[in-house]
Amino acid sequence: MVFDILTLFPEFFSSTVRHGVVGRAAASGLIEVNARSLRDYTEDRHRTTDDYPYGGGHGMVMKVEPVVKGIEALKGSGGPANVVLTTPQGRLFSQPLAEELASKGRLIIVCGRYEGYDERIREFADYEISIGDYVLSGGEIPALVMIDAVSRLVPGVLGEPESAKSDSFSRGLLEYPQYTRPEEFRGMRVPEVLLSGNHAEIEKWRRKESIRRTCLRRPDLLEKADIANGDRAFLEEMIKKGGPGSS
Ligand code: SAM
Repeated sequence: MVFDILTLFPEFFSSTVRHGVVGRAAASGLIEVNARSLRDYTEDRHRTTDDYPYGGGHGMVMKVEPVVKGIEALKGSGGPANVVLTTPQGRLFSQPLAEELASKGRLIIVCGRYEGYDERIREFADYEISIGDYVLSGGEIPALVMIDAVSRLVPGVLGEPESAKSDSFSRGLLEYPQYTRPEEFRGMRVPEVLLSGNHAEIEKWRRKESIRRTCLRRPDLLEKADIANGDRAFLEEMIKKGGPGSS
């Protein structure tokens, strides 16, 4: 999976791709992260990437020429690529969208700055993506968020591919509670079933806890979740007993 980034701050990306899961994936060649300076695609002496907005108003606007030249230069070399524009006005980033992007093979991610893009830049994007309903100063952090979430889904990146499948959102639910040693900490014990060695019971418990947790914290997710008949019965019973907080 190749991520080509167009940014005013390529150095944002150099340390990230040296650490953790993403770092290991880059070191083993499963992913490639190339950050390019938008200033390399300017033509004036000052390497200008912004200008005043037509019609007046505060702040500066990202110029169309360097961004489009950058996109076209990158598209002209390497394999086919999808262009992602980071913008708070875009489609909300999510696990299903990360899965969709992971299937693309190569992404060119444009990091905006200033007060936003010249509107004509949007014509050159396949995706406009927001990481949440808030405004950041630039698209570098959203790009890093996408690189991380997408890289985890590239085959071979996670030591155990099954772990991505049990992550929150992968099946439309939040992940079940996790525990590690010690068995007891300040009176709080690890649930007995997890110590039982009975894998069928453990799976059942995890599924129920996943549903309970989703119901409690993100009931909105349940509408779209992959819920089987048995899960539905559990949900109904839980609600009858007093809601997801009940045991
Ligand atoms: N004035 C713009 C608006 O209201 O839509 C916001 C511009 S913001 C200060 C500068 C850049 O940061 C954007 O062009 C985009 O690249 C990035 N950005 C800010 N918030 C973002 C978000 N929630 N998701 C994705 N990108 C974001």
